[in-house]
Amino acid sequence: MEKIQNYIDGALVNPISNQYLDNYEPSTAEVYSHIPDSDKKDVDAAVKAAKQAFPAWSKTTKDKRSAILYRISELIEENLEELAAAESKDNGKPVSLATKVDIPRAAHNFRFFATAILHFASESHQMEEGAINYTLKQAIGVAGCISPWNLPLYLFSWKIAPALAAGNCVVAKPSEITPMSAFLLSKLCIEAGLPKGVLNIVHGLGHKVGAAITEHDEIPVISFTGGTATGAQIAKTAAPMFKKLSLELGGKNPTLIFDDCNYDKMLRTVVHSSFANQGQICLCGSRLLIHSSIYERFKSDFVREVKKLKVGNPKNADTNQGALVSKAHMEKVLSHIEIAKEEGGKVLCGGYQVDLAHEGLNGWFIEPTVIEGLNMDCRTNQEEIFGPVVTMMPFDTDEEAITYSNSTKYGLAASVWTENISRANQVAEQLHMGIVWTNCWLLRDLRTPFGGVKQSGVGREGGFEALRFFTEPKNVCIKY
Ligand code: NAD
Repeated sequence: MEKIQNYIDGALVNPISNQYLDNYEPSTAEVYSHIPDSDKKDVDAAVKAAKQAFPAWSKTTKDKRSAILYRISELIEENLEELAAAESKDNGKPVSLATKVDIPRAAHNFRFFATAILHFASESHQMEEGAINYTLKQAIGVAGCISPWNLPLYLFSWKIAPALAAGNCVVAKPSEITPMSAFLLSKLCIEAGLPKGVLNIVHGLGHKVGAAITEHDEIPVISFTGGTATGAQIAKTAAPMFKKLSLELGGKNPTLIFDDCNYDKMLRTVVHSSFANQGQICLCGSRLLIHSSIYERFKSDFVREVKKLKVGNPKNADTNQGALVSKAHMEKVLSHIEIAKEEGGKVLCGGYQVDLAHEGLNGWFIEPTVIEGLNMDCRTNQEEIFGPVVTMMPFDTDEEAITYSNSTKYGLAASVWTENISRANQVAEQLHMGIVWTNCWLLRDLRTPFGGVKQSGVGREGGFEALRFFTEPKNVCIKY
């Protein structure tokens, strides 16, 4: 059985304890590889290597850093098929999605920051008193990057690429639930000629490896994407150590459907924005708010289209919905469906685990589920479920739609469907979210700020925001 290894000081190594965890294939529920059960000792070794590499890497010219990151992006593209198959097997997502979205976007992240760093400039401020200020933007040192399981390589690279481009060295931890693509990436980094110690990948559990990274006094900057509860724990540790912190956390995103939308385009996209990646994207719209005049029409069309989604083997090209990432997560999602029923929700379609044992798949599949009849304050409409479950609610006025949208503790993203440009702008302005998509969803320009407000996070990733996060500005004032 394949053994995943840590990537420390330029080499693939076993965990110091020689202990391993089981890694499951979600579609079969079988263990198919082993992952290092690393601990503080491995993190210490990774930090030591990163510290040693930092002086040279931070002084390496931008051109050279850029070329190496660009080469990594090319290698990801050259190995697209292998990476997509690995991501699909490890996560349960359809291979078609990994091929079209996850892996190309991971390559894009490296390519984007390889070139962005070449355009990252500092400001200068002239004074009438006869002085000039200029701002140095210096690499910070060893950055800690911790990422989740839902878009494994995509989100891992979204952190690592800007941290490295800015001249930091990195100690990174992918989710222990989906470690494979990060392991394959470490091999590509070696092939691309990334100097040893510049990137270190330590596999293992959150409360061991993740906590050791967060607590390490030689890691002054942490970029984390994951659940809100974990983010709160990390903040509690990092704040008194005065670490620089970026937190990308959970969401409970509304989709606002007005009666003046382009109906067919909306319907197509909303099926996708509700259930892509089995609803396991932090940006998926899980609360559908529909103008009451088109509620019944939308309901029947939406449910009909959702029923067409094929739940099946992630390896098959015609599969729309693969497996959920783990047994525990599937059980959590199913328990939320039971809560919705107890709260008075009516399940319009889905609601159950899908049995694919006849295809030799004993894994964790759930039917795409649509629920109506719930009020906005109930648990189902307030708590993040992070699975193939959406609720539908009618609204009568724009104000009502905005109030419902803003009524949770989260504030990550919304999508708004209307052909009325004034309404679109007025609604976008009043939504308390970090991201608003109008007449689209998940259309990503990597230059734009990415992140949430309220309990969806602190700080922004993307473009120069990310490069600013991974550098420390220093003002130099010269009197002449
Ligand atoms: P999680 O918080 O359980 O784990 C995320 C990462 O943190 C994993 O690598 C995990 O091992 C690590 N971790 C766990 N405990 C830790 C600790 N005490 N200290 C340090 N690290 C620790 O989240 P998850 O279940 O992997 O991912 C799902 C969550 O991520 C959802 O809430 C989703 O909304 C969120 N998410 C947010 C975004 C965003 O951009 N805002 C993107 C994707 C996912």
